[in-house]
Amino acid sequence: RRKKIVQECERLMDKPENIRNIAIAAHVDHGKTTLTDNLLAGAGMIADEGEATRLMMDTEEDEQERGITIDAANVSMTHEYEDTNHLINLIDTPGHVDFGGDVTRAMRAVDGALVVVDAVEGAMPQTETVVRQALREGVKPTLFINKVDRLISELQEGPEEMQQRLLSVIDDVNELIRGMTEDMDDIDDWTVSVEDGTVAFGSALYRWGVSMPSMQATGIDFGDIIDLERNDERQELHDRTPLSDVVLDMVCEHFPNPLDAQPRRIPRIWRGDDESDLAEGMRLVDDEGEVVLMVTDIGIDPHAGEIAAGRVFSGTIEKGQELYVSGTAGKNRVQSVGIYMGGEREEVEHVPAGNIAAVTGLRDAIAGSTVSSVEMTPFESIEHISEPVITKSVEAKSMDDLPKLIETLRQVSKEDPTIQITINEDTGEHLISGQGELHLEVITQRIERNQGIPVNTGEPIVVYREAIRGATDTVEGISPNRHNRFYLTAEPLSEEIVDQIRLGEVSMDMPEQERREALQEAGMDKDSSQNVEHIFGTNVLIDDTKGIQHLNETMELVIEGLEEALDEGPLAAEPVQGTLLRLNDARLHEDTIHRGPAQVIPAVRRAVHRALIAGHVSLLEPIQDVRIDVPSEHMGAASGEIQGRRGRVDDMYQEGDLMVIEGIAPVDEMIGFSSDIRSATEGRASWNTENAGFRVMSDSLQRETIMEIRERKGMKLELPESIDYF
Ligand code: GDP
Repeated sequence: RRKKIVQECERLMDKPENIRNIAIAAHVDHGKTTLTDNLLAGAGMIADEGEATRLMMDTEEDEQERGITIDAANVSMTHEYEDTNHLINLIDTPGHVDFGGDVTRAMRAVDGALVVVDAVEGAMPQTETVVRQALREGVKPTLFINKVDRLISELQEGPEEMQQRLLSVIDDVNELIRGMTEDMDDIDDWTVSVEDGTVAFGSALYRWGVSMPSMQATGIDFGDIIDLERNDERQELHDRTPLSDVVLDMVCEHFPNPLDAQPRRIPRIWRGDDESDLAEGMRLVDDEGEVVLMVTDIGIDPHAGEIAAGRVFSGTIEKGQELYVSGTAGKNRVQSVGIYMGGEREEVEHVPAGNIAAVTGLRDAIAGSTVSSVEMTPFESIEHISEPVITKSVEAKSMDDLPKLIETLRQVSKEDPTIQITINEDTGEHLISGQGELHLEVITQRIERNQGIPVNTGEPIVVYREAIRGATDTVEGISPNRHNRFYLTAEPLSEEIVDQIRLGEVSMDMPEQERREALQEAGMDKDSSQNVEHIFGTNVLIDDTKGIQHLNETMELVIEGLEEALDEGPLAAEPVQGTLLRLNDARLHEDTIHRGPAQVIPAVRRAVHRALIAGHVSLLEPIQDVRIDVPSEHMGAASGEIQGRRGRVDDMYQEGDLMVIEGIAPVDEMIGFSSDIRSATEGRASWNTENAGFRVMSDSLQRETIMEIRERKGMKLELPESIDYF
């Protein structure tokens, strides 16, 4: 049977009008895995619901144990709708916000997002995050409201109450959609509604679902549903209106096929020349055009090695092709191409535009790479969205394992670009940096359990930021030979501009004209926007000089000095953020030999640090939004866990039978939260955190923290005075 399905998928791959590339977006525990089981079983991909999908989707052992989905995995299935067979490629998105980077990447590859919301809990912070990510990428949403059985059997709600509750979930989701899409002129009304058939609801657990079209076709109404649920006749409900049919019909009817989606999405997700043949090929889903693949995920197959999975936007991928990989110099040869059937890869002859492909041989590709048959502007870089806030050292217990550890870490950073790996030059330790304590825990467990490498790990260390508070007068940086001088001012960048940089809406990768416009729109004056020379992290270098001899040929070194200075700020050698540096003047030695790296880099570094000090640089700590759901008898203990961590409780309210506590706390204090909250609430709390940026610390705490960091890093234990930089 499997062979038949593969053959049918291969046939359908050549018919883009019948393809739907989709993702399921949900808050953890709202039922994504259970729903996926239903869809695969309904499509005949697995014999029955249950264990099979756990194995297919949650392939990593630690995911099964934690019951959360971490890695994006892919499955394909077929579904007959209106007498036509459709190919549905489902990309799994991670269910925990610590892994936000993965979600964005998965959204790039799909055209539709099925938003799943628990009817009892309603839309949660993470629902909001994922819906935002989808809309930002131009991905169309539909809504499935899950666990409706609980409204009936547990909460004993009647038809009126049920309707009220469903409508309020729909309203919440629509408010989000409206807010995000109002200003997007490439998008019509994307709000969802029962009448349009863009909302379905039901029970993934008991495998029934309804939508307006399905209710009309089957004659089932609210009253019937309530009667059948109450009388425990769920099997009948499933037989009369199976969830998989209702949802897959909605997918086929309301999500765009690649032919409809790509013309709209390409300008949104790709910043290259929109008049080029390449752009035309992608807009038209041209299977004879140049090959363009956007890699969303790197997986490991014990036999085939690294597998790059992603969306083919144009051309046809085949074995033997030599393809460019963005960000690297050479080409890679395609060794095999395949599609995903469940968690397994099936080799096929070729994969044409509009599909999700699994490719081996692309050894330089990482998640997020653009792979193509001609050199091209890569898909918008996505690395800015999530900056690491926590770091931990790992060290192999046995020196014999060192090569294997290095290889594994390399692999990990390829699969998950929100992870950064660095080597501490002094100790030889490897440092992994990521989005939160859990994120790093998952990575180290993977190294230990899946790779069988016993490791020692250090205490998690928070990554702080340094930023200035005000604008400065001109400062000078002089080279060691005193023949080169750089004159700079610094000022804080506006929040709007920083946000645009973080979102990748402003970057050095995009065409100059577009960058200028984006910066001006975010409030930068015209002259400055035209003189932007470099963007590093969330900092901008503007070159306001005119006609200075040799400056052009020296600019690369200037940038190197700038990057060094911003990588390690003057307070505690933590990264600098949100600063605009303006080069006003420079004096350069006539002779190249006297203005080499050893002269220019330190001169610029000094100038930048002096400017930062003049701008009253201060230390910022990362903070997280925290949400805890807990039975009311544990409310006091749970809110105490936030307040006791230099945190703040912003809101407490009842939702269903639980109390919800919302607040904010520093990442540093959140270390160890998961075991503390468990013991404080007898394990009855569920919780969720999301990185919420950085905030300035109080003066006394700042001083203390700076000293701790300096000590840890082996730096001088006095605070820098500007005099140090003369
Ligand atoms: P995920 O984290 O979004 O993948 O959620 P899961 O599919 O793992 O579901 C989380 C929990 O909710 C599991 O215990 C499921 O059995 C349960 N669940 C899922 N769907 C339903 C439903 O429709 N009704 C009820 N009562 N429970 C459900």
